[in-house]
Amino acid sequence: MTLLDGADWDSKIFSSGWVPARGGTLTSTEPATGATLATVGSANGADVAAAAASARAAQPDWAARTGPERAAVLRKAARLLEDNHEEFENWLVREGGSIPGKAAFEVQLVLGELWEAAALPTQPWGALLPASEPGRQSIARRLPLGVVGVISPWNFPQILSVRAVAPALALGNAVVLKPDAQTAVSGGVLIARLFAEAGIPDGVLHVLPGGAEAGGALCEDPNVAMISFTGSTAVGRKVGEAAGRTLKRISLELGGNNALIILDDADLDVASSAGAWGTFLHQGQVCMTAGRHIVLESVAEQYLDRLAKRAANLPVGDPNTEQVALGPLINARQVANVDRIVSDSVKAGAEVRAGGTFDRLYYAPTVLAGVTRDMPAFREEIFGPVAPVTVVRDDEEAVRVANDTEYGLVAAIQTGSLDRGRAIADRLRTGIVHVNDQTLNNDAYAPFGGTGASGNGARFGTQSSWDEFTQWQWVTQREQAHGFPF
Ligand code: NAD
Repeated sequence: MTLLDGADWDSKIFSSGWVPARGGTLTSTEPATGATLATVGSANGADVAAAAASARAAQPDWAARTGPERAAVLRKAARLLEDNHEEFENWLVREGGSIPGKAAFEVQLVLGELWEAAALPTQPWGALLPASEPGRQSIARRLPLGVVGVISPWNFPQILSVRAVAPALALGNAVVLKPDAQTAVSGGVLIARLFAEAGIPDGVLHVLPGGAEAGGALCEDPNVAMISFTGSTAVGRKVGEAAGRTLKRISLELGGNNALIILDDADLDVASSAGAWGTFLHQGQVCMTAGRHIVLESVAEQYLDRLAKRAANLPVGDPNTEQVALGPLINARQVANVDRIVSDSVKAGAEVRAGGTFDRLYYAPTVLAGVTRDMPAFREEIFGPVAPVTVVRDDEEAVRVANDTEYGLVAAIQTGSLDRGRAIADRLRTGIVHVNDQTLNNDAYAPFGGTGASGNGARFGTQSSWDEFTQWQWVTQREQAHGFPF
């Protein structure tokens, strides 16, 4: 018995139970084989409007429940996920093209989010403020926002949905989740089933797979108080504009073009391993992917040599049937974009040291040498398994080159000297920086988010969740009212 057995989710959306979508249906397909895996409901604007109205009606009762009651639903969801983790992992492998290791890693991250969120409703909700007059009590308390709209992408569809859904619910909001159509089951149906089984009351959570129409409708809906969006910078700009018109709170977690800096005192075996993991995990389709390898010139050839050997040794294939390190990219459009960036960079003078080829959706792990700051491989977020290597003279130039991007999500530095690493970290304009690590890291309790074109200052993580998903109310009270000079 799995979570998806025994539930009438086929061709439906989750909106006060499983119901047909006015927008029709969409198919979930396996990128590795092209096979159809499932049919789910496809939400349109009318489905979003109905869901948002229903969520708004259900939210006050949910918020009025005690903290321990809400926490219990989150804890039960976590236990159900532990019991059914293989089902969640299998869907990530088949629908998302994840290797099993990435899928297991993602499910562990989701569990962390659920447990952390379960602890939120029983923490203090406010502060007792100093009284400005005798006999007057003054408090500040946190209130839910109302309905939170969550729009999530396909690359880590479970964690990038749950990191917003779980704390928003825990803190008394209702949620309308719109997962990406390409991962409608792994990032949508499964999450709906998990919370339904955990006892979320009717109307408090709606899950509406769909595309730009449904996402756009959520951003404009007057019943929605906040949009939490994770996706590309281009769509994030549209979301910000649309949601801004109705004065919603807007949390944008967008793309990245992240620097991995290799200093000349780094252990190059370790550094090239960090580089390979940072660039090739999940075929480079991660916002935190190491998108630019910035290497000091005295060790550049040795680093390139090691990185290219690692790339050439990584097996690529169907992660459901073969033991591979890389699966398929999510779709043909993505492959064409990666190929354009590589080809144009090679035409401009970059040299392919590994990979540079593809077969259907399988793109070979690629290492590019001689990448300069004007090439597309340096300037653009590639979202594919490509490691562009740029050579710099010294630490000073490494900082300048790393900061030469509109993005600012994460950076990492490999060095034999912690002091040198810290000095560079202090000067990087990113929301996250790691010394002697690679760029892919996530802790449910650490503030996660970027600067510049990577986001608008929003952060995920236990403490940040309070700021994102609640608003302050100042309350004063006194036994008796008094008169004023007028
Ligand atoms: P995308 O922007 O194309 O889609 C993201 C979501 O937005 C999907 O659910 C999509 O259906 C929806 N959408 C599309 N058009 C919309 C519109 N006009 N209005 C409202 N919603 C709309 O992104 P993607 O290709 O699915 O994901 C990859 C991108 O996401 C990359 O740029 C990656 O860096 C970024 N990302 C960022 C983070 C982060 O935490 N910063 C995490 C993962 C991915």
